[in-house]
Amino acid sequence: MPVQVIDGAPETLLPSHLQKVDLKYLQWGCDQANKYFQGTVILSYPLTKLVNGTEFFKIVLQESENSCSKTSTINVLFFGRLADDCGKVVHQGIYTKPSTVTASETASMPVAPKYTYTPLNHLKDGTIVNLYGAVKFFKPPYISKGTDYCSVVTIVDQSNVKLTCTLFNGNLDALPKIYKIGDIVRFHRIKIREYNKQMQGITGIGFASLTFDGTVGAPIVPRTSSKSYSFTEEEQKTIEELRTWAASNLSVCGPTAKLSDVQPMLFFDLTCQLVGKAEVDGSSFLLKVWDGTKCPHPSWKVLVEESDLEGDKVLIHQLRNLIVDILVYDNHVKLAKSLKVGSFLRIYSLHTKQASAENQPDVSYVEFHLHGGTCYGRGIRVLPENNPDVKELKAFMDSVNLTESQNVESMSSMELDGIFSNLSYQSYSQRCQQLSVTVLTDHQHLDDTALNTILNSSVPQQYRIRAKLRTFKPQKLYQSVKLYCSKCNSLQEVPDGDDFDLILRDCAASAPNPEVHNSLWYDSEVWDTENQGQRKIAVHFVKHDELLQEPEDTLIMVQGGMLKEIRKLSRRFKCIIPVRSTKEDLELLDLSAPFLLQGKIWHYGCKQCSNQKTIQSLSSLAEEEPSWEPTEIARVLGIEPLQYVFVMKFTLDDGTGALDAYLFDYEKFFQIPASEVLTSSLLQEKMEMIMNILCPPGTKLDDLPWLECFIRSYNVKDGMEQQVCYQIFDTMVAEDVI
Ligand SMILES: [Zn+2]
Repeated sequence: MPVQVIDGAPETLLPSHLQKVDLKYLQWGCDQANKYFQGTVILSYPLTKLVNGTEFFKIVLQESENSCSKTSTINVLFFGRLADDCGKVVHQGIYTKPSTVTASETASMPVAPKYTYTPLNHLKDGTIVNLYGAVKFFKPPYISKGTDYCSVVTIVDQSNVKLTCTLFNGNLDALPKIYKIGDIVRFHRIKIREYNKQMQGITGIGFASLTFDGTVGAPIVPRTSSKSYSFTEEEQKTIEELRTWAASNLSVCGPTAKLSDVQPMLFFDLTCQLVGKAEVDGSSFLLKVWDGTKCPHPSWKVLVEESDLEGDKVLIHQLRNLIVDILVYDNHVKLAKSLKVGSFLRIYSLHTKQASAENQPDVSYVEFHLHGGTCYGRGIRVLPENNPDVKELKAFMDSVNLTESQNVESMSSMELDGIFSNLSYQSYSQRCQQLSVTVLTDHQHLDDTALNTILNSSVPQQYRIRAKLRTFKPQKLYQSVKLYCSKCNSLQEVPDGDDFDLILRDCAASAPNPEVHNSLWYDSEVWDTENQGQRKIAVHFVKHDELLQEPEDTLIMVQGGMLKEIRKLSRRFKCIIPVRSTKEDLELLDLSAPFLLQGKIWHYGCKQCSNQKTIQSLSSLAEEEPSWEPTEIARVLGIEPLQYVFVMKFTLDDGTGALDAYLFDYEKFFQIPASEVLTSSLLQEKMEMIMNILCPPGTKLDDLPWLECFIRSYNVKDGMEQQVCYQIFDTMVAEDVI
């Protein structure tokens, strides 16, 4: 029997003895001859021939949305004539009701091919779906570890549910062409996985995407490299609805700025034209760009060999007062190299940094950096010539009189600003003022309380508030990291590397005692240091089951090493315990030194609460499968570990009153672990950027963004006096800020 295409509602036309079956009831070895299965063709493979000449055709069907089974797709294989017939009429995305489980001989097709789109609140683990969404966050494509490009996109729809998708493709053009937050994307055949109770999207076979400008009223033209795609009138409506919804529900404020808006210590997205480029060294690359406006501060010039600079030298000279030099690093270098001079770019999360010349400390200038990594969507994207922002930019550039710009000192950036219509930027900042830059992790049901009400209320109580961050302390962010003992509630400063260095030098003065080398549970090695007198370094490698393990799993105890050597060893070994030797045994150093180093994290113990045990106690941990958890190591050594915390004072103001609230946080508020921030310039920069958004320097109270916070009041006894304090908790920085 040939393939039958049925018009209208197929179930009424199927033979009545056929019974519909759900995927979950399908089993190996059961006769399914009188059953039929209903689903959408989410993937079809080209019709091919097997080695023996038999026609072969494969499709993947997905069960209808209301099914509750875990696996919802089934591969259907057709052979011979049926394969040939089906191959001619089956198209991807067709909603079809074939009775094909055992390739029985009827298959019914509807007339018009039509995709079904799943709302984001109806996603299920293990499905392959088609989606529409507005872009809430994205990372422009970057080269991932392999040769593939990777892009991360978080989308949201009217259900207010968001979905983060990680998209890989060897072809850059196959990834969605997203230029800004608020753009609308359509994904076909994206795989849904559940991870940590959250749905995630990943690219699978047959993934395809279209991207549309998110601006309400803008022409609906898909950005795609594909020549064949379907697009219906109904979908046009979907996009219009999503645009309208996103306009009032999404903070579509990418932090865009013109060069004339540039301030030191800013992170922003820059739309510009590339006029020159040069390799600086293997890990950094120079881009010379302009946007027609003049940076109000003197900016740096990166020195490169004239011959290394690619671009029109005459033009570069002409524009010299308008061009800024941007250094891009690490993962962005490869992409930067491939950029064509003359192309229009959007550079995301560009950092301006204030610096001063070494010999003239009072002369400062601004540096432009695109740091390595992709957090905050940092990256570069080439914009096509027909992009509305590019058109606007070009028109403006054409209006800039270059002879004037050479004497541009006489023309203030205010005047230039006036020439440029800055409407979109204004509406952006207005929008940002209404949305909150922090979110509550709980208590969303509570109403806001005004600060003056809180100030006049009894203590203790808890409140939800909405206020602006007028100022904060400490301004030097690294000073906010402290060590905290949860047993005695004490806070202390984090010792700096110099203190540790002194202790190590002191220990290195006495030679390791060979009597305590090599025991049942560790092997010892001793090295002489070159050109450093008699100093010896002893390393004791802790064994498990009599055997040494791989360095990255190994705990070593080090005696006589200097800070530099210990840092070097901590890059290679999982854990390091600095020790010294007595006549009888190895022992821990004074607790002013870290008792354990793990990578870049130094673990300290509380002097007051620790009750140190012998180093032998470690052998009990070595016997088990040792994972060398810091808390476990501390426990067997009798050490009360100190925890790294952020301690900050926020002055909050909601117009009715102001109060100081403490932030006491391990990692929840900033989504940055306090234990790692001191040794990571990347994390420090991230924190700097967050505070820059929460409380932009030099901004009037009216223009500051709102913070949604949960605070509690409590009493503190200070001698005879009772003092009321406030603490922020169950609050974190909004994800689109991070
Ligand atoms: Zn303590």
